[in-house]
Amino acid sequence: MSDPLLTPEQAQQLVLQDIPVLGVERVPLFDALGRVLAEGIAARHDNPPQDNSAMDGYALRHADIAGANAGQPVLLEVVEDIPAGHVPQKRVGPGQASRIMTGALVPEGADTVIRVEDTRAEGKGVAILVPDSLGGNIRRRGSDVQTGQEVVGAGTLCGPGELALLASLQRALVPVHRRPVVAILSTGDELVEVDEPLAPGKIVNSNTYGLAALCLANGAIPLMLPIARDEEAQIRRAVQSALSADLILSSGGVSVGDYDYVKKVLDELGAQARLWRVAMKPGKPLFFCVLQGKPYFGLPGNPVSSLVSFLQFVRPALRKAAGHLPDTWLLPALAAHLEHPLANEGDRRQYVRARLRLEGGRLLAAAPQGQGSHQLSSMLGTNGLLVLEPGVRLEAGGEVQAQLFGAL
Ligand code: AMP
Ligand code: MG
Repeated sequence: MSDPLLTPEQAQQLVLQDIPVLGVERVPLFDALGRVLAEGIAARHDNPPQDNSAMDGYALRHADIAGANAGQPVLLEVVEDIPAGHVPQKRVGPGQASRIMTGALVPEGADTVIRVEDTRAEGKGVAILVPDSLGGNIRRRGSDVQTGQEVVGAGTLCGPGELALLASLQRALVPVHRRPVVAILSTGDELVEVDEPLAPGKIVNSNTYGLAALCLANGAIPLMLPIARDEEAQIRRAVQSALSADLILSSGGVSVGDYDYVKKVLDELGAQARLWRVAMKPGKPLFFCVLQGKPYFGLPGNPVSSLVSFLQFVRPALRKAAGHLPDTWLLPALAAHLEHPLANEGDRRQYVRARLRLEGGRLLAAAPQGQGSHQLSSMLGTNGLLVLEPGVRLEAGGEVQAQLFGAL
């Protein structure tokens, strides 16, 4: 037991080495929201497909209107009306203009569009009051994307902007990485389900809910398994049933207690152990192995510990599995200023749950009281973890590294 503990960074490295990137499926465009593109997408056509008007106005020949102003307007004959979606029928010749709507194709012969606000209708013609520049108010073919260009790269997270762009490129089906399916198994004789009576000595299984919610929030599909009692045969059956998932999380039962059977069972099932115990608080008793090809996390049982360990180790693994780019695997780290003094008297790095907020452009951090690993109330309203090395003492206003896991 005297092995030196791994640093969180070492543990993250070891975990990530064994995480496979999941395969590809083609999904209807809208189902790609929040998923990661598995292949780069090239444009099959120019966008805009042809030159079109950026304004409601008149399409004309710039040479005709070079000297136009309100005092000396240039009068042009209007030869056609071009609504959006219709193909112009007439060429614009010298001294002529076509009335054109936003998004309508620019007719042959015209090189400039003048906004309707800069004109005055004159019987069957139009008076141009402003010269504008050559080529003004025309959106050029291909000025957004060009045929053959890779517009969105592999590893891109599909958000609203990406979806709209992919739609404009006529991608009705999109190749994305599969979402990881994560089996969640809670172990312990003391656990009852959320709707069961709380008999003496029992506590409610909260980990399954917290972990499943974190899975969903991080793009994975949770598979919530029934509680397994502290009994080898039950744990074995539960672990075997979890093998249908891409990744397995169990909580509890990995410590050194007399009834902590999880590691024993995993060993018997042929798991290849990769790491045990990390120098952090909460979250020291972390076990990670590969079981029949599947990454298996034996998370701590304490409710806060299981959530913090998820954020440090499982979240990066899920992001790798789902195809996210490596620089987005870990939680984003920012410098924040403490709203109150904070110290780490212990000998392990602490991850302190905190509320991060912006005030006047400064990021402020406040940690709820009661940071024990059983005190779930320390998670309430929090969106960040403050990283505090052993021996660090900070005053109010002091700078601290903060990891963001929720919205600011
Ligand atoms: P263990 O690692 O099994 O010794 O569990 C450590 C602590 O976490 C004990 O106080 C357990 O009662 C508690 N615990 C374990 N699993 C859960 C769970 N699923 N929900 C809430 N608390 C748990
Ligand atoms: Mg237990």
